[in-house]
Amino acid sequence: MPELRQNFMTKEWVVIATERAKRPEQVVVHRATKPSVSVSPNCPFCPGHESQTPPEILRLPDGDGWKARVVPNKFSALSPDGKPDRTIRRSMRSMVGFGVHDVVIETPDHSQAMALMPDARVADILRIYKSRYDQLSLDPRIEQVTIFKNHGSDAGTSLEHPHSQLIATPVISHQVRERLQEALRHYDEFGRCIFCQLIEEEMQMQERVVLQSEHFVAVELYASPSPFYTHIYPRRHMASFGDISAKEISDLGRVLRTLLAKLYFGLENPDFNFTIRTAPAECVGVRYFHWYLSVIPRLTRTAGFELGSGMFINSVIPEEAAEFLRKVKVETTVGAG
Ligand SMILES: [Zn+2]
Ligand SMILES: [Zn+2]
Repeated sequence: MPELRQNFMTKEWVVIATERAKRPEQVVVHRATKPSVSVSPNCPFCPGHESQTPPEILRLPDGDGWKARVVPNKFSALSPDGKPDRTIRRSMRSMVGFGVHDVVIETPDHSQAMALMPDARVADILRIYKSRYDQLSLDPRIEQVTIFKNHGSDAGTSLEHPHSQLIATPVISHQVRERLQEALRHYDEFGRCIFCQLIEEEMQMQERVVLQSEHFVAVELYASPSPFYTHIYPRRHMASFGDISAKEISDLGRVLRTLLAKLYFGLENPDFNFTIRTAPAECVGVRYFHWYLSVIPRLTRTAGFELGSGMFINSVIPEEAAEFLRKVKVETTVGAG
């Protein structure tokens, strides 16, 4: 029988379509492989083309060159100048499009997927996120900082060179607010962080756990809206990504890299997004919210039912997805890169 499952946190319903269930490997999107080049002549993010980006905000040096750079987005969605004043005219509300839009160029190598980087390099990138996150969170004009990566055209990226982005906005989105409120409601009712409870249960059951380390656990969502939707949770309670310790960030580098490599080898380098879902600056230290990282492979498209109902149909059973990923063998990389 097909099954409807409800997300513990968002309360969203998902149809797990067992009748049309696919084996995990059946969702692979086969793509023509592109030739792998380490420098591309027209790429603004490749070494030697530094003058094509706006002035650098941050650089991780590597001799005369660099391991990673942060630059403002040349085609920024928002402007870093100005004050986010609000205008409310009857039912029309607006504000000045203030915000900060950073691009993190993750590597000088044009074709190096994050899944294939050494763990330590992924940890370097996470450290860059944290440093920008901490800086931007201090700006009183900024309410929310969203860190994300788009890999592949189905994930919305036009530039091939490995990069991720950080957008700071002067408002908290409705989605984030709802999540905070749902978590607060749970905390008030049961006296516990909803995520700490979920992590404890998932680790006891082990049915949807893909991998776990000293500080993190990667889990397929029970009510997964799409195939291989994976959350990486810190095992220690922390409301904000800014609370992560130096030891934890190294460990997360290893866990994230291993998960991405499992997707890369198991599903033939699928397009994916990842994003860090954290309590905004105004909620630092709260006991009811717990940050996590979502990795969302883009293997299926949303259609009319999803748009109309707000419910999703997923044809890959999350427990099978977890089992599939657990079995994908990935070399462990250690040390510096
Ligand atoms: Zn490039
Ligand atoms: Zn917690």
